[in-house]
Amino acid sequence: MSAVPGACCAVCGRELTKDEIAVTRKLINRGAKRFCCIDCLADYFEVRPDDIRERIAYFRSAGCVLFDE
Ligand SMILES: [Zn+2]
Repeated sequence: MSAVPGACCAVCGRELTKDEIAVTRKLINRGAKRFCCIDCLADYFEVRPDDIRERIAYFRSAGCVLFDE
């Protein structure tokens, strides 16, 4: 999964992947303009980064259009 040019985590500034942008939309707000990396999302929701990765896998397996790769 490659980084998206110009997309950075709103918290730590790290470059984001399409998955991270998509999962921010799913977990926070479909219309989100600010996105977070997996680590910062995990902090925000007080879960482990692996829990966020599991959510990404789940959304993709469920056929969510935001995860269309
Ligand atoms: Zn971050």
